Amino acid sequence: MPAINDYWPLVLANLKDRVTTDNFRAWFSRMEFVKTSNQGRKITLSVPSRFNKNYIQTKFKPQLMESLSKYYPQAIHLDLVVNTPKTTENEVKQQVLAHIDDEQPVTEKAKKPQSQNVNKILTQKSKPSYLPKENLNNLNPRYTFETFVVTGNTELVHNVAKAVSEKPGQSYNPVYIYGGVGLGKTHLMQAVGHKALENFPSLNIKYIPCETFITQFQLAVRNHQMSKFKDYYRSIELLLIDDIQFLSGKEATQEEFFHTFNILQQANKQIILTSDQPPNEIKGLEERLSSRFAMGMVVDISKPDLEARIAILTDKVARMKLNLPDHQIHAIAQAVDTNIRDLEGVLNKIQAKLTFSLQSTLDDSTLSQILDVTEPASSVKIEYLSNPGQTQTYKITSNVCSYFGLNYDEVLGSSRQKDISMARQITMYLLKTELGMSYPAIGKIFGGRDHSTVIHAINKITKLSKRDTKLRQKIKIIKNTALKK
Ligand code: ADP
Ligand code: MG
Repeated sequence: MPAINDYWPLVLANLKDRVTTDNFRAWFSRMEFVKTSNQGRKITLSVPSRFNKNYIQTKFKPQLMESLSKYYPQAIHLDLVVNTPKTTENEVKQQVLAHIDDEQPVTEKAKKPQSQNVNKILTQKSKPSYLPKENLNNLNPRYTFETFVVTGNTELVHNVAKAVSEKPGQSYNPVYIYGGVGLGKTHLMQAVGHKALENFPSLNIKYIPCETFITQFQLAVRNHQMSKFKDYYRSIELLLIDDIQFLSGKEATQEEFFHTFNILQQANKQIILTSDQPPNEIKGLEERLSSRFAMGMVVDISKPDLEARIAILTDKVARMKLNLPDHQIHAIAQAVDTNIRDLEGVLNKIQAKLTFSLQSTLDDSTLSQILDVTEPASSVKIEYLSNPGQTQTYKITSNVCSYFGLNYDEVLGSSRQKDISMARQITMYLLKTELGMSYPAIGKIFGGRDHSTVIHAINKITKLSKRDTKLRQKIKIIKNTALKK
């Protein structure tokens, strides 16, 4: 198992970029890593005083969580305990931190007397190595093929990943996976690592976040450990570098990565890279690197559609042993269309709620609160009436109701009775044509319906009203009275 605090100096280095130097010194210089628990979800850190703890919690928690999540991706809870730090370890850390500043060419740094001094201290005192221990592959046990749900949008990338894990270095090399955040890039690349390890137990596999590569390179240069660094990287047989876009603008690191890449690739060692963009769109990345990244297989991982989101949620709900009926799973899938990390976020909130309330099921209104959508029609009405910003929307809806002699719950609800569903479709049509509301926003008002349902309704009314004069008149009356009110 990895020594879990291996990355702590890197977290601090990352944090240094997010807060001012003064703040860093005042609030974080005496912070210590204690442990992770709850399968990596909780991180415990120690701080020297209660005051320090409160201050960090109110002022710097987001920055701290951002930095932690780079190196401890599962971490969602933070626990700060008040403790007096051990001075010796702290001293070493101070030196390390003094070491990490912005990247400059090696020759520039060599000229700096101050950094020579620090190098000297480090070499004499502790000589830490910032390369993860040889036997660590840094793979997160959760990210396997077994826990990866294959859906339409990930079928191709999944097949490529599977193929590579069967024959590393012999099919596609490099494999370059790109796509937005939270869509499964890290998960999939690590799944290749796990599978390859199963297939070839002696293979030297390493998962390295790109930022770790950069920091290790910088530290190696400053500690005169470059030959160790080169040996370490050049002996890897399956190299997984995550979020390669962070190489942007880091010229010295790019140069070193270029050589590492060539040596590994020429020796048929497998390389997998991920990024948020295709190779040629990463700004500040040398052309010789982007063209090499594009040489093997470039695959994108796109957003999951509704069906995919339902499939993923269903799988996760079962794994987490949550008791959620289908209609609640559908509601979550409809409300959260961003990415899988956000879907997981909702499930974690639900789990926390259930644990806290000691209940085994969740009622729909609590789910609505969690999703921040107005699920039952009656609560939409309450929200309309109490929210002055919604008056235009409210007027249109209320006019449809009075024109057709229906009540809110009927129009906003899900009855399929012919006149009710016609009234509902006219309301959607007017919200679009008169107020220019987005399809998802309209869907939200109608109990979290999918935007495709809304599009369908609006298209239907548009078409019908072209040939049906009576319908055109009805719409006109509703519209005029509503907007004049
Ligand atoms: P990315 O690296 O693209 O930002 P991650 O790989 O970190 O995204 O995925 C975010 C979260 O979503 C992780 O917890 C991961 O396990 C989960 N996840 C992503 N895709 C899938 C999938 N297809 N099936 C199951 N879980 C997934
Ligand atoms: Mg990732």
